[in-house]
Amino acid sequence: MSTLSSMQAVYTDDIPAEHPWSRRIARGQTLRIIDSEGQQAVDALLYGADDAAERYSAQDTMRAGNSPYVGLGSKLISNKGRVLACLTADTCGMHDTSAGCCSCESNAVRFGEDTRYQHACRENFILELSKYGMTKRDIVANLNFFMNVPIEPSGNFTVVDGISASGNYVDITAEMDVIFVISNCPQINNPCNGFNPTPIRVEIFDPPAA
Ligand SMILES: [Zn+2]
Repeated sequence: MSTLSSMQAVYTDDIPAEHPWSRRIARGQTLRIIDSEGQQAVDALLYGADDAAERYSAQDTMRAGNSPYVGLGSKLISNKGRVLACLTADTCGMHDTSAGCCSCESNAVRFGEDTRYQHACRENFILELSKYGMTKRDIVANLNFFMNVPIEPSGNFTVVDGISASGNYVDITAEMDVIFVISNCPQINNPCNGFNPTPIRVEIFDPPAA
């Protein structure tokens, strides 16, 4: 649990089901992502606010954490090997950074051509990144908060039922100024959102007074 109370938040926003969101998070600020209704995957990407060529690296994060998952204490590492942010609270305990984000193309391959028209995280990322002059070329392997993807000893993995309950949250404290980009996942063909995408809430906290 965190000592930060929602009363102290300097910014609060409810992100509707299936929608994207982004914001600059200053060094020392904490972003809280709340799974308002439970079982909702939150796809996320981080970019250096001053140099977007520096960005989240799932590979370096897993290597630095010596784990295929992220959780309390995890350092989110950039492609330049620096710490973008740290997970400073986590009441869920299950987050993925292997399974990537859903797309119209992957939906069509996995679930059939008739799902190709459905809205997907990749489209959300493209929309949100366009605000910063970035394109689909800038989408990298992402984080999936609250998404339950157990990895078997063989290396195979499958998206299974989420374990996050209504009100579960994760706190991410920025170690440098970052652009934090979210896709509130619209997927309805696997259980990552309980087959029912729902709203999430984001809150931002200033660093504690010295
Ligand atoms: Zn998705």
